Amino acid sequence: MTRPVVDRFVAGDALPEALVAVRALAAHGIDATLDHLGEDITEVAQAHRNRDAYLALLDALSREGLGGRAEVSVKLSAFGQGLPGGHDLALAGVRRVCEAAEAIGTTVTLDMEDHTTVDSTLAILAELRRDFPRTGVAVQAYLLRTEEDVRALAVKGSRVRLVKGAYKEPSSVAYQSRRDIDLAYVRCLRTLMAGDGYPMIGSHDPRLVEIAVRLAERYGRAPDSYEFQMLYGIRDAEQHRLAAEGRRVRAYVPYGADWYGYFMRRLAERPANLVFFLRSFTTR
Ligand code: FAD
Repeated sequence: MTRPVVDRFVAGDALPEALVAVRALAAHGIDATLDHLGEDITEVAQAHRNRDAYLALLDALSREGLGGRAEVSVKLSAFGQGLPGGHDLALAGVRRVCEAAEAIGTTVTLDMEDHTTVDSTLAILAELRRDFPRTGVAVQAYLLRTEEDVRALAVKGSRVRLVKGAYKEPSSVAYQSRRDIDLAYVRCLRTLMAGDGYPMIGSHDPRLVEIAVRLAERYGRAPDSYEFQMLYGIRDAEQHRLAAEGRRVRAYVPYGADWYGYFMRRLAERPANLVFFLRSFTTR
C-alpha cells in the first residue's frame, strides 16, 4: 500500500530503474546525483556491499554513456563510519568509489548526516580532495558551526552543497526555528557565492532559490560556476523551469531497497507528505 508513496521519492529498488530516472531527467536538461540507499549499518560486510554497489553503479553509468550526466552521493555511515575504526574503514571505501568516479570523468559528493559525524566527514573530505580535488560535501545551515566550516570550504575547486539540514538536532548545536535556519542559510550562501568554490544550492525553498539567483548576479558568477539541486520527486516543475532558463540543475536520485530512513526524513519535513502517505491507506 505504501509503494506508490515511496515511489514518489525513490527512483526504484534496483539500478536499472535508477538509470531510467537519469535518462528521463537528462531529457529535460537536468543532471543527477545518485544515492544508493543504505545507512545505519552494523557489520563491516555491509560496508563492503555498499561500496560494491557504488562501483557497480559507476560501471553502469560508464557503459550507458551517462558519466557526463550523473555523479554519485555517498553517506559515510553506509561505508561503516559509525563502526569501531569506522573513520578509516569509510575513508578506504569511499576512496575506491572516488577512483572509479574519476576514471569515468565524474565526481562524488559526501552527504552530511547527524552532527556527531561532521568532524570525521570533513576530515575524510580533506583526505580525498588531495587526490580527487572535485570531491564535494554537503553542509547543513542549521548547525551553529557551519558558517565557520563554509568559510574554510569556499576555496578554489571546492564543491559545496548547502542544505538546511534534515536530522533532529539539539539546540546546543543547531538553530531550531525556521527563521534562524533560513537566515543562517543566506549567510552561508553569501559566503559561498562570494568565494572561489562551486556552490550547489540544495533547497526547494522558492525564497532561497530567488536569493541564490540574485547573489549569483551580484558576484558576477557565470552560469556554469554554480548549480541548483533538488530531491527526486520534489518540485519537479521548478526543476524544469530552472533548467529551461539555462541554469544548471541536478536532481538527487535515491534508489535501492533500503529506503526506510530516507523516506521517513522526507515525511518528517512536510506535514502534507504525511497526509499523502496516510491517504494511501484509505484509498486503494
Ligand atoms: P523547506 O523550507 O523544508 O521547504 C521549502 C518548500 O519546498 C516547501 O514549502 C515545499 O514546497 C517543498 N518541499 C520541501 N521538502 C519537501 C518534501 N519533503 N516533500 C515535498 N515538498 C517539499 N540534508 C542533510 O541533512 N544532509 C544532506 O546531505 C542532504 N542532502 C540533500 C541534497 C539535496 C539535493 C537536497 C535538495 C536536500 C538535501 N538534504 C540534506 C535535505 C535538506 O537538509 C532539507 O531537509 C530539505 O531539502 C528540505 O528543506 P528545503 O530547503 O527544501 O526547505
